[in-house]
Amino acid sequence: MKTLINPSQNALIEGLTRPKLEPLDLDPLILKVFSEVRRNGDKALNAWTLQFDGVTIQSLAVSENEFAEAEKLVSEELKTAIRTAARNIERFHRSQENREQEVETTPGVICWRKSVPVQTVGLYVPGGTAPLFSTVLMLGIPAKIAGNPVRYLCTPPDKQGKIHPAILVAAKIAGITLVYKVGGAQAIAAMSLGTETIPKADKLFGPGNQYVTAAKIYAQNLGIAIDLPAGPSEVLVASDGSISASFVAADLLAQAEHGADSHVVFLTDDESYLNSVLSEVERQLEKLPRNNIARTALKSSTAIVSKSENWPEIINYYAPEHVIVMGEYEEFLVDEITNAGSVFIGKNTAESFGDYASGTNHTLPTSGFARAFSGVSLDSFVKKISYQRVSDQGLLKLGQTVITMAEAENLQGHANAVKVRLEAGISGFQSPLNADSRDIKRFIRKDLRNMQPYSSARNEYEGISQVFLDANENPFDSPYNRYPDPKQRKLKKAISALKKIQVEQLFLGNGSDEVLDLILRLTTTPFQDSVAYLNPSYGMYSTLAKINGLRTREINLDERFGVSISEILLQAADSRVLILCNPNNPTGKVISKSGLLEIIQKFEGLVVIDEAYIDFCPEHSLADEVMNYSNLLVVQTLSKAYGMAGLRIGMAIAANEWIRALNRIKPPYNLSTQVQETAISQLKTIPWNTLKAEIIRERERLFDLLRSVPSVIEVFPSEANFILFRIQNASAVYNKLLENGVVVRDRSTQSNCSDTLRVSIGTQEENNKFIQLIQNA
Ligand SMILES: *Cc1c(COP(=O)(O)O)cnc(C)c1O
Repeated sequence: MKTLINPSQNALIEGLTRPKLEPLDLDPLILKVFSEVRRNGDKALNAWTLQFDGVTIQSLAVSENEFAEAEKLVSEELKTAIRTAARNIERFHRSQENREQEVETTPGVICWRKSVPVQTVGLYVPGGTAPLFSTVLMLGIPAKIAGNPVRYLCTPPDKQGKIHPAILVAAKIAGITLVYKVGGAQAIAAMSLGTETIPKADKLFGPGNQYVTAAKIYAQNLGIAIDLPAGPSEVLVASDGSISASFVAADLLAQAEHGADSHVVFLTDDESYLNSVLSEVERQLEKLPRNNIARTALKSSTAIVSKSENWPEIINYYAPEHVIVMGEYEEFLVDEITNAGSVFIGKNTAESFGDYASGTNHTLPTSGFARAFSGVSLDSFVKKISYQRVSDQGLLKLGQTVITMAEAENLQGHANAVKVRLEAGISGFQSPLNADSRDIKRFIRKDLRNMQPYSSARNEYEGISQVFLDANENPFDSPYNRYPDPKQRKLKKAISALKKIQVEQLFLGNGSDEVLDLILRLTTTPFQDSVAYLNPSYGMYSTLAKINGLRTREINLDERFGVSISEILLQAADSRVLILCNPNNPTGKVISKSGLLEIIQKFEGLVVIDEAYIDFCPEHSLADEVMNYSNLLVVQTLSKAYGMAGLRIGMAIAANEWIRALNRIKPPYNLSTQVQETAISQLKTIPWNTLKAEIIRERERLFDLLRSVPSVIEVFPSEANFILFRIQNASAVYNKLLENGVVVRDRSTQSNCSDTLRVSIGTQEENNKFIQLIQNA
């Protein structure tokens, strides 16, 4: 090895220059091979094989018998080793199968990308001095994972016309059943052009000598892709004196024995250590069977002594196929390396691990290509196709942008392609758009989109019968021995009449708390999505978010509990779901209908309006807008205005497709028979409208009374059946009320809610007791 001690810039550049291959003019030969294979197909291959490999091939394809014979010829020990390596390679390459997310770049414009396997891949494994069955694994396993529909191997036969048995065993393990006996440039020509026997490939993989490489480069002109421009193998070992010289020497020799043209660089900061490594190299060389090859390679290789702070620059300049870093600078170097095919870290991590069995791919960029190329991976076997779909909403939102840009580029045709659609579309449906089922689908968690729901016995059997032996119920008659109606038909009908909402747009849950939980489960991906809501607002939102593994975005209200529409949109922008409580609990404040519609139109995710208190101010409800927006769900409850908190009945109101989606994930019998029956009779018999009016009158009375209490700082106008007010020493007042048997809600301990209490509107008598205590507080 050449040694360079603290070399100058120029000496360094010279020392790191890879040995140049004698430039052979291979073009005429390659052209000849390709044109003969094109003209004579298999016959040409056989002729070249006779000339270069000295054997006449009867059949190009390796037969079943030959595979079976190979199994017998390879030792169990080697087979086990191949299987272990194959398993690791498969594990590592499977980890590269990342599915990409769909992205909605503008509301209604959905873009995504998908990996699609290259249809036909041809793998090449050289014969020659060493049977590279490890390369069979490195190429065959990712191809198997990628699922390339046609994948096959070409490799030259020996003098008996056989393929090395380890290559066939490895091929079988890697899932390759088509192996052809042909090597050299003629194999590359056959794969590029196709012959009677060998299929024409779309992409070629595998190492080879100069002829093979020249043929692969030529194949590119024919529109065939190749894995990497292959060159001689190389390693850079960087180590300080703390590592045994024998390790370093062994690593250098492992590379040098590859081929006479291999290139080896050793980098250290200690001259005497360098000398021990060099004498260790000499010692180990003696015992190496391939020491002739290694010796030749070492002649053109370089050992460098340089201060460790220069190492990153040296490594990145050289851009080695393999770099081994050992010793004290390991971590520092790993962070600084920007050009390398593969990095081996630490004293135990011989390059050989990566060459065979750790799982990483050993087909790596050489000759400095590591500056811009990656090694072979699963990605090498697939193409990434991009997809997009523009919905009606997307057309309206993004169309004008496209037209403006196309016209500025003077491409009227491009602009027209959007214009004709916009013009046709606008007469077809006015904005806001009809909630369209495809639009809804995209809000649903991907893995739930096509999930088969659990089908209960009561769901499957719809008719009238006397003998029910289908649901493992107790046959002895009682009001409740049968499971409840999973479709809650009668109750839905009653609610539909009450609320003037179509049955098909109603979903019922065990309280709106369950409805909100199911909506989050249906639409969000745990540990990925976030949900936005106002602060202060209903405390269950943060609890539900946590239960569902979601991050939270709290949109802080100002001192007087107001917030602008643009602030909501800004704060919620990266959330998948925005929950707005309207009127808001605990403030009693409403966001105007036009404000909410603006949010729904501009927000890219799902908007859930929790209208738990809407029955006290029905004019603010968005229930009649649900068919117009695919990203709107309204949640209501019978717990508040309708006096059924104890029955636990909540509901979602949304476009039919949403209701179907929620039904697919709900527990089958989430409302008991008794609850359904009781609610129907309650709705019929209790004069809720009169009671509601009474509550509102009391609220207004209490509002005025509270405002006249001196210690009350502010009373917030409410549209609901509670009032939030700010009072001096709120917690003390709360305790005083409690001592006298009146429980209100102390909100003063919540962030953003200092000195506030929330009082629900009770009966006149209850309210009087409350206000008296407040007045005397
Ligand atoms: C009370 C309340 C609920 C809970 O309603 P249930 O139907 O009883 O579960 C939901 N949202 C808000 C804002 C509430 O105040």
